[in-house]
Amino acid sequence: MVTFEQALSIVKQKLGEEKQDHATEVLPLEQVRGRILAEDICADRDYPPFHRATRDGYALRVSDLGSLPAILERVGEVRAGEHYAGKLRPDQCIEIMTGAPLPDGADAVVMIEHVSIRGNQVEVHRAVSAFENIVRQGSEAASGSRVLARGRRLNPAEIGLLASVGQARVKVFVEPRVAILPTGDEIVAVDRQPEWFQIRNSNAVALAAQVAAAGGVPRIAGIAPDLKDPLKRLIENGLEADLLLMSGGVSMGKYDLVAQVLKDLGAEIYFHGVAIRPGKPLMFGSVRGKYFFGLPGNPVSTFVTFELFVRPAIALLSGGRFECPGFLRARLGKPFRQKNGLTAFMPARVQKENADPVVNLIGWQGSGDLVGVAAANCFLVVHPEQTEIAAGEWVDVMPKG
Ligand code: AMP
Ligand code: MG
Repeated sequence: MVTFEQALSIVKQKLGEEKQDHATEVLPLEQVRGRILAEDICADRDYPPFHRATRDGYALRVSDLGSLPAILERVGEVRAGEHYAGKLRPDQCIEIMTGAPLPDGADAVVMIEHVSIRGNQVEVHRAVSAFENIVRQGSEAASGSRVLARGRRLNPAEIGLLASVGQARVKVFVEPRVAILPTGDEIVAVDRQPEWFQIRNSNAVALAAQVAAAGGVPRIAGIAPDLKDPLKRLIENGLEADLLLMSGGVSMGKYDLVAQVLKDLGAEIYFHGVAIRPGKPLMFGSVRGKYFFGLPGNPVSTFVTFELFVRPAIALLSGGRFECPGFLRARLGKPFRQKNGLTAFMPARVQKENADPVVNLIGWQGSGDLVGVAAANCFLVVHPEQTEIAAGEWVDVMPKG
């Protein structure tokens, strides 16, 4: 059995080896949310493209404010979308609006709140320093400099940046296809009325949503029974995708046949068993040039192991960077003990109480309890060495995503 950290680094190392060239496509910005950028993007001009006023007020020369109040002559106005054609001379000022370019000769803006106006006379009551209330030309990005690197995931902020540099279309990597293969004799399709001893196939649907959110294209296969031959055929089918996810059949039971069938197909298993809770039977390997995960069938285990290991794997298969599961910190609400040497991920709710975020476990019935996970907004992360944690101690939490 490997530790949580070892398992993560094996996934990173194996999929990081993927040197094959990923296919790319060019898409309009409306279609690239969550996609991975396949080219470096450079600024087409300086950003901002001119010294830009950040306040409504008066553009002036700092050297004219030697003694206060200073009286300046208002010689014009400049609005956003315009520019002042002349040059500011000593003891002159120009009314300026937020977003407008600083007139030639001016070197600061005094806010409208700090002047009084009498006809064309502007009385300035407050000193300003050079370039106060101005964002200097090129200070956000100089023309030609790289603003986004190949491999970056495109979320709303990145998409806004692409638009601002005039990239109406952009080259992104084609999303990896991810086959989802549920296994288990007791599993029935969601739209069927199960017998009292049967279970609906919730994992495939949840996994498909997770795959899509992680940047893959999910394809759900039929439900594999706990029988070698049909399981083998469905696995071979799933290997046509870029990544195969199986759910169930990876524990120690007599009818947990996934590992055996994969070995018969010549699979190399990199790990089978990770010191985590839930999700201990997790399996990762490759066969016929494709990677696969055998996810434990318990719905919470499936959910958590996806978030921990499959999401970063899909990022790498998408041409992106390895994205480690992100932990935040919160104070533990009630004391906690564990002595099992595992890294635990337990459904919890974090909320701000007074100054600090506080995390409390959700009452749950173990790794089958999706009701508990649905009620959670995060997982409390307890590391193996943390056998006793007192209330109020800082702990790791993983957002539910
Ligand atoms: P297994 O990993 O095959 O031992 O399954 C562990 C538990 O997860 C069992 O209670 C299964 O009924 C349940 N399970 C397995 N596959 C699914 C699935 N696709 N959807 C919902 N529950 C499942
Ligand atoms: Mg099973």
